[in-house]
Amino acid sequence: MTASLRDTRSAEHYERALAFLPGGVNSPVRAMRSIGRDPIFIDHAEGAELIDIDHNRYVDWVCSWGPLIHGHAHPQIVDAICDAARRGTTFGAPTVAEVDLAEEVGRRMPGVQMLRMTSSGTEASMSAIRLARAATGRTKLLKFAGAYHGHVDGLLADAGSGLATQGIPASPGVPAEVAASTIVIAWNDPAALAEAADAHEFAAILAEPYPANMGLVAPAVGFLEKLREAADANGALLIFDEVISGFRVGPGGAQGLTGVVPDLTVMGKVIGGGLPAAAFGGPRELMRHIAPAGDVYQAGTLSGNPLAVAAGLASLKLLDGEPPYTRLAATTAALATGLAGAAEAAGREDVQVSTATGLLTVFFSPSPVIDYAGAQACDLDTYAAWCRGLLARGVYAPASQFEAWFPSLAHTREHIDHTVAAATAAFAEIGA
Ligand SMILES: *Cc1c(COP(=O)(O)O)cnc(C)c1O
Repeated sequence: MTASLRDTRSAEHYERALAFLPGGVNSPVRAMRSIGRDPIFIDHAEGAELIDIDHNRYVDWVCSWGPLIHGHAHPQIVDAICDAARRGTTFGAPTVAEVDLAEEVGRRMPGVQMLRMTSSGTEASMSAIRLARAATGRTKLLKFAGAYHGHVDGLLADAGSGLATQGIPASPGVPAEVAASTIVIAWNDPAALAEAADAHEFAAILAEPYPANMGLVAPAVGFLEKLREAADANGALLIFDEVISGFRVGPGGAQGLTGVVPDLTVMGKVIGGGLPAAAFGGPRELMRHIAPAGDVYQAGTLSGNPLAVAAGLASLKLLDGEPPYTRLAATTAALATGLAGAAEAAGREDVQVSTATGLLTVFFSPSPVIDYAGAQACDLDTYAAWCRGLLARGVYAPASQFEAWFPSLAHTREHIDHTVAAATAAFAEIGA
């Protein structure tokens, strides 16, 4: 019944890594601490499969946490990167492909006429906030508990006590006065939104339209429209952080899907095709505040990097037309149905499967999760045990209850069947 994983070489290199990298990794979730095991070192990957340095092969549902909508090492994306690399890796001067990419993004995203590229989503949201503050002459931000917009100081804020009160630092090193200009309220809570909008003048209301950093917690019907109305009434800009949802839940992200168009859009992950690229964009009149068109300073040595732009362009072009999204939706739905069926067959009444196209979360919760409090109330130990059971059976699922699964266009029926079989065995192993 129990399965196990060979991990001698990963263990060896983790030991070495601990001496040179904090926690042995370059980003915390990779350490797998929240599922109570040591990290797995990757050797290489093909399509939807990951091969570690101990030669274990996994169906990869993490796909680098979002960028790899076409799976790993898609030949057309790799060719585009190699062609670009041979022409020079960076110039610090404009290239034609940057304009092509901006045009491609503008064609897809209803709220984006003009954009500025950055190397990471963190930088893009930091810069979007600077622009919102410059454009409104205001300082305060409204964000939602459980939303992640990169590790920007002012956004690493937790809710203070009571509704619509100033935020408190969510990490040592974040100055209290910086966190205090961020107000944090519960997602999907129109009353809290109304109260906060009454009490403060915001530079921006910042939201992941399909929050996926507390597990996937879709917006309640009409909630995104309420954000738009609240921002307009308040005089704040509405910023959608579509770093995950952009080009994933549909060609035009959440804004294309719902018709709720923000003032500024933050993009990342898919836009870089697996290389470091991100962007923020909006209407021309707003974006022309950015230097050198305007006086809001923003810059980057590797922004619009030729390799990343080539990968992003190739990735977007492979998404052209309806079929890729129909297929991604079908893959997501088949996985969701299979996992929900496995949970039901195991007699589990505490499993909720939340989905949007290209996104999924299995919550260990007796009732549907609608906000961060609900996500935090999940049975994290049981998730951890189930997730370890999946890994041992060749299924690489997010090593945290608070991260989404990322179905890709490289996942096949066989990958889903293997995953559902592993899920069934892992449910049996952890007991009811
Ligand atoms: C990943 C992520 C970011 C940060 O992007 P980085 O490239 O990791 O800095 C911002 N917002 C959301 C919604 C994300 O998922």
